[in-house]
This record gives sequence, structure tokens and C-alpha cells, in this order.
Amino acid sequence: MLNKINLKSLSKEGVFSFVMDQSLPRYRAEQLMHWIYEKYAADIDEITEFSTGLRNALKSIAYISNLQLAKSLKSSDGTKKFLFSLRDGETIESVLIPDEGRLTLCISSQVGCAMGCLFCVTGRCGLVRSLKSYEILDQIITVNRLIQPKKITNVVFMGMGEPLANFDEDVKALWGIVQFLGISKRKITLSTAGIIPGILLLPEKAPEINLAVSLNATTDEVRNKIMPVTKRYPIRSLINACKKYPLRSGRRITFEYVLIDGRNDSLEDAHRLVKLLKGIRCKINLILLNPHPGSDLKRPPDKRVSEFQNILLRNNMRALIRESKGQDILAACGQLRAGIGRDI
Ligand code: SAH
Ligand code: SF4
Repeated sequence: MLNKINLKSLSKEGVFSFVMDQSLPRYRAEQLMHWIYEKYAADIDEITEFSTGLRNALKSIAYISNLQLAKSLKSSDGTKKFLFSLRDGETIESVLIPDEGRLTLCISSQVGCAMGCLFCVTGRCGLVRSLKSYEILDQIITVNRLIQPKKITNVVFMGMGEPLANFDEDVKALWGIVQFLGISKRKITLSTAGIIPGILLLPEKAPEINLAVSLNATTDEVRNKIMPVTKRYPIRSLINACKKYPLRSGRRITFEYVLIDGRNDSLEDAHRLVKLLKGIRCKINLILLNPHPGSDLKRPPDKRVSEFQNILLRNNMRALIRESKGQDILAACGQLRAGIGRDI
């Protein structure tokens, strides 16, 4: 494969210039994109519309990369989790969440994560490497291939890794999702632990993507302990960056708040959260901690969760309680890769 061009690494313009460089007619570019992104061809030989001669000529200079399905698990709530192997043997996870006619795929942007959040399995593994844009895009293509004729309708960058720590490749993948897979920008959400320069640059490089921010605490002191990224980007600056994020009408920023017993779930926290988010058009997802072996963090009792939510609601905030999907297959990010998922 050395020196050969990976067709999935090319942007739309890139496919056109590739075809022109080979002195092929323009319509060959359209055909290539159709076969790779709509018929999910995993190999140039699968493009049966091309003559053997043309396929051989293409194969001498190019190839189509793929993810290998290593494992898939289905949860009783309908969530399906996929473990994919990459060319270098590393593994990543994607989670398919069917919900009210939508088919949302939660995708990974890195193998592991450098952010080291206390409650997160991916964070505890550290960063192995960032994904290339085609490895990000391929999660959607491969799942589409597996579930055809159904198709992914929504995408969330909420799997393994910190998307804004892999900014350029993520932006390239975002454009691929829109241009090749026909998923509109308003159906794509990127979730970040709060990398401020990325939040400020995103509207320019990938406008109109929905933004989700994992806030998870209301004071720097507590947030530092559970999300070390706070040392670089304190809460106040993070909130100011969010205030600058352009929102089209009807759109809101999502703030994710994983409730952890005794850490960030006091009623004072709820009141502080109201104050912090005042003036931002947003919704809050209160996420119940997905506990995992090897960590003594617990989810709060149900009563505290509803008290916390009620304070937000009484102050006219939108706040939903989200049960992590796929409880029984350990669907929280990183748990399958860490080898603690189980077949059902
Ligand atoms: N790195 C990005 C996106 C991936 S993490 C980010 O942090 O936003 C996606 C979400 O999963 C985050 O909101 C994170 O807070 C949440 N999460 C991580 N570990 C969890 C766990 N054990 N239980 C519940 N939610 C968890
Ligand atoms: Fe990384 Fe997000 Fe996990 Fe934190 S919660 S370690 S940022 S993947």
C-alpha cells in the first residue's frame, strides 16, 4: 500500500483532481464517489461498473481503506456497539443508537484520550493516537454497510477521544460526512471537554455544527479534580467561549453534566449551574454516571438527581435526565475497548 493513494483520504475536490491526473473523464470521479460512499465498496475490485482493465490500472496506484469489525454487542435497549480494528491493530468503538426514527451513530476521533477525566474509561487509558479523517468517516460507512438498506441519519462526535484535540482531521471528516454521506450539518454534534481555541475556530472551519460541552462541575476546584483540562481552560473562560459560539435560530448548545455522587451533585451546584449558564441559549443533559470496575465513583441516588433537575427547571433551564444508553453492554466510551464489555 506504500505510496498508493487511499481514495477515502481524498476530499471531493481531491477525487476530481485524482481522476484528472489519471487522464480519466470527470464522470469517473462521480462513479468512484458513488461506489465508495453509497455502495460502500470495500475494494476497487468491487466497483463492477469499471472494466477489469480500469480496475487494475486504479489498483496499481490507489486503494480503498477499511475498518475491520472485531466485535459487536447489542443491548436490550436497542443500542448496538461496534469494536473496529484499524490497520495498525489499534481498536476504536462506535455506538449505534436508534431513537424515534433517527439512527444516531456515536463515533470516536482518537484511540484513547489525553484528557484524563477521572470518570472516563477512555481517559484512563491515555492517548494512543489520533484518527485520520478517513478512519473517522469509515465508522459511518462501515456501519451503513452493515445495516443496509437502513442508513445513519445523525452523527455525534462523542465516542472515544477529544475531537477538538484532533481538529484538522475532524474538520476534514465533518466535510466528508456532509458531502459524501449526505448528512446535513444540523444533524451532526461535536462534544468537547472544553478546548477553547477549538471552540472558537469551529464556526469558521465547520460552520453550523451543533456544539456539546462536557461541563460536569460548577467550580474550577471540583472540575480540576475530575477534568484536569480545567487547569488549561478554566470554567469562566470556557463559558465566555460558548457565549461567542454562533447559533442559528432554534439551535442550542448542549451542556453535558455527568452526575457523580458527592462530587458535583449538590443543590448548590445546581444553583451555580443556573448562574453560569444564564444568557446562553442551551439545554442541559444530566447524565447518570456509568460506573465501571476499578473506580469507586458512584451515581447519585434518584432523589438527588430529580432535586438537581428540578432546580434547573424552576429556573427556566431546559434539563433532561439521560440514562446512559446500553447499560448492559457497558456502552460508555472506552469500556468495550478496555476489555470489560461482555457478549450478550
Ligand atoms: N471527549 C469528548 C467527547 C467524548 S466523551 C467530551 O468529553 O465531551 C462523551 C461524553 O461521555 C462526555 O460528556 C463524558 O462526560 C461522558 N462520559 C464519559 N465517561 C462516562 C461515564 N463513565 N458515565 C457517563 N458518562 C460518561
Ligand atoms: Fe477524553 Fe471525553 Fe473521556 Fe474526558 S470524557 S477522558 S475528554 S473522552
